[in-house]
Amino acid sequence: MQAVSAQESERSAAERREALKEVFAQARGCVRCSELAATRKTVVFGAGNANADLMFIGEAPGASEDEQGVPFVGAAGKLLEKLLVEIGIARSEVFICNVLKCHPPGNRDPQPIEIANCQEYLHRQVELIQPNVICTLGNFSTKLLRGDPTGITRLHGQSEVLTLGKRAVRLYPIFHPAAALYTPRMLETLREDFTRLPELLALGAPEQPDSAEMPEVLPEAASEAAQVAVEEQGSEIDQLGLF
Ligand code: URA
Repeated sequence: MQAVSAQESERSAAERREALKEVFAQARGCVRCSELAATRKTVVFGAGNANADLMFIGEAPGASEDEQGVPFVGAAGKLLEKLLVEIGIARSEVFICNVLKCHPPGNRDPQPIEIANCQEYLHRQVELIQPNVICTLGNFSTKLLRGDPTGITRLHGQSEVLTLGKRAVRLYPIFHPAAALYTPRMLETLREDFTRLPELLALGAPEQPDSAEMPEVLPEAASEAAQVAVEEQGSEIDQLGLF
């Protein structure tokens, strides 16, 4: 996999979408995590607008997502969609994905090695979609993107500008909707944090770093060990229509 192309920002949305499809085609055959590769039904790459201003990043696909190949289609996803509609945003306008692209068996937490194995796909997604705002849902995505162990309880509802790769984005951590499903107070907090999203989006992209001074911080090109094999073609090909 190509690590970082020259200037993603200079590529048209259509070109970036095509590149995203290529990353998906590679992820579809990924066997970096042997257990996940052996137990998953589908690779849940992500879905939505490939040129979205707003991107949501959850934890890992659940069983329903694994069945359908689409992120956030279960109860947490329905809540996410509802909260979006309440602030006047349709699900189709945003891009939704997860830290892990494969369902961990038994819904266990993602393991550090799995997060490390999978993060190149996430970085490429961010790089190609070029969102202005990234909403991390819960601890896993928040800690990964910030590169810091501070938890969601402290960070939720506060935006910060973060440089990811060569672009600056507005990071907006919020609680994972699954946590709010059965806890009314948590739901209230989540809903409140959602109401601040429109004003954050209205700010547009944050000031961008001078590219000449930017270090190359995105992951290296996939190594041999990455074993990205584009082997699961066939019936999964229609998933490419997800974005
Ligand atoms: N929870 C997640 O973090 N992601 C999904 O796709 C579904 C539930």
